[in-house]
Amino acid sequence: MKQHILLNGQVRTIKEGVDANEAINKLLEKGHKVEKCKSPPTTKTLEKWVMDGVAKATDGCRVETDGECIHGKKSWLLVLGMI
Ligand SMILES: [Zn+2]
Repeated sequence: MKQHILLNGQVRTIKEGVDANEAINKLLEKGHKVEKCKSPPTTKTLEKWVMDGVAKATDGCRVETDGECIHGKKSWLLVLGMI
């Protein structure tokens, strides 16, 4: 399974064979804002969330479409600029 990170607010896929934690540490050392995240949702899922008024945060928690979870992770809709 591919691993994803949020680099300065943008979703990036970690290359096959690259250790995600190592990559994150290197980016942090360079002063980037970076964190692990779940796989980004499909457009269809995003549309469903908008309809339902419920979304998931980048760590997988259930949140309001424009909300943040208890861990301070934003809804995917916010991160991807859908709302
Ligand atoms: Zn959370």
